[in-house]
Amino acid sequence: MITTENFYIQYHNADKLGYFPTENTNSKSLISDLILDDSQKYEKSWIYTSKKTALKSKGGTCFLIVGKTEDKIKNYYLWCYFRIENIEKNIVDIIVGGTGKDFKHPVLLNNLEDFDGFKKFCGNFGIGFQKIDKHDFSQTLQLFINEVKVSDPFSDRKLYLEKEIQKFNDKMLLIEPERKIQTINKLVRKDSKIVQLLKEYVDYKCQFPDCNSIIPDKKRGVNYVEVAHIKAVSKGGKGIIGNLIVLCPNHHKEFDLGERNIFEINNNRISGVLNNKNFQINLFNNYSYKINDSSKKYN
Ligand SMILES: [Zn+2]
Repeated sequence: MITTENFYIQYHNADKLGYFPTENTNSKSLISDLILDDSQKYEKSWIYTSKKTALKSKGGTCFLIVGKTEDKIKNYYLWCYFRIENIEKNIVDIIVGGTGKDFKHPVLLNNLEDFDGFKKFCGNFGIGFQKIDKHDFSQTLQLFINEVKVSDPFSDRKLYLEKEIQKFNDKMLLIEPERKIQTINKLVRKDSKIVQLLKEYVDYKCQFPDCNSIIPDKKRGVNYVEVAHIKAVSKGGKGIIGNLIVLCPNHHKEFDLGERNIFEINNNRISGVLNNKNFQINLFNNYSYKINDSSKKYN
């Protein structure tokens, strides 16, 4: 569900520009024949504008409308929408970007009720980026958002984290053994990206079963946790998924110093005995896809 209250449109005149807003679409196609990828695009939808109103649009929702003459009729399609998350300004333009979706089948607007009134309200779309809350047609546009079901921002963030962790995991897999200790010291010990991502992914909670350790880090506003290597760096343990575990400082020390016997370890699970206590930790059981390991990369 979209929870914002401010709605904006941007207009893309495909006749004038000669291309569609989505890459790899043939601009000679009829828009009604196109099938677009309607998966969520994280922080990857954006528009350029010179309108100052864009500077205050953060948190709103932007609709992109595409106009194209087809069979001598100017057709207007609702092409995509996105939540406005980032606003950047350079000398020429304001770049408004965020997370959103293309419509699998762009929605022809011409025949919808009060579209003509809306078009006039928008200066026949000659104004460019503008706020449209004051026109009832913005509610019509919102109906199309609900139909394609935006997932909630929390799970968006989880999915984003999964992708980022995967990216950095792939990088860490490529690090040569001789550079490993040096690099891991530099990258992981000092809170490398993958370590930061993992901590956030588990909501800054110790992954040891039934641990309720809370150490508020006032400065950073999160619970203080550490990331441990299951197989020590000095013994060749890599800073990758399957060998990293988020622990509170107590469990971290117990893990490093205690008497432990690991029965099973893979990308998903580690089980064993630690100081006479059996444990099983599901490392990344929330992942919606399986994290690649080095032998099965990109499967
Ligand atoms: Zn703990």
